[in-house]
Amino acid sequence: MSLMMLRVPRGPDAPFIPKEFAGHFRWDTRLSARLGGLLYHGCHESDLANALAENALPLRSDWAVELPEFGNWTAEGVWAGLNAYFGLWNYFGPCLVTLPVNVLNGHQFLVFRRPSSDRRSVYTFVQHDSPLPVYLGSKEVWREVCPDEFFQLAEAGLKHRSDDGYRVVLTTSLPLKGASIQGVPHPQCEYEGCIGATAEKAAVIVERQLAGVSWTSC
Ligand SMILES: [Zn+2]
Repeated sequence: MSLMMLRVPRGPDAPFIPKEFAGHFRWDTRLSARLGGLLYHGCHESDLANALAENALPLRSDWAVELPEFGNWTAEGVWAGLNAYFGLWNYFGPCLVTLPVNVLNGHQFLVFRRPSSDRRSVYTFVQHDSPLPVYLGSKEVWREVCPDEFFQLAEAGLKHRSDDGYRVVLTTSLPLKGASIQGVPHPQCEYEGCIGATAEKAAVIVERQLAGVSWTSC
């Protein structure tokens, strides 16, 4: 019984635990150039309205670390992802904000690797713009890693590793400069005002918000 329980993967929303910590790295221009691609953030209409008013993605969510000695430590953040999961289940909708990955340049990230099955892992990169080390479990685990190891070598540089997931938690608001915003379906969502928005309804929501501000992506 206990062995079976140990094999149950931790859910996506569970706090990070020390054994998931895989080191830290600084996202630099080299990584953006080798990886390319986009950073995605999904939200509902009221969140989009707030973001447009601030011209940035504000910290609207929490993330947490579970420390055996001290319990849970929770902080504010804003979640994003590197996988183009929009339109699937309830990922990234009905308002989808897309930014080039080079908006992450210069930031340091903590890496948490969480297996979600025997063959799949989800990596979460948590912004940590401080020179202070974070000792999760032991002093030795505070080590700088090369981010290439979390991706797969490709002809032109790096690519996402097979089916793995890549999430990003930003701990400072992210300017919308360079962003594109579109409506995407949000199936099976029970959030009031969305109720599983279709592509058409999502487009109307985004158009309504963009019409209400003098927002520009540049
Ligand atoms: Zn929804």
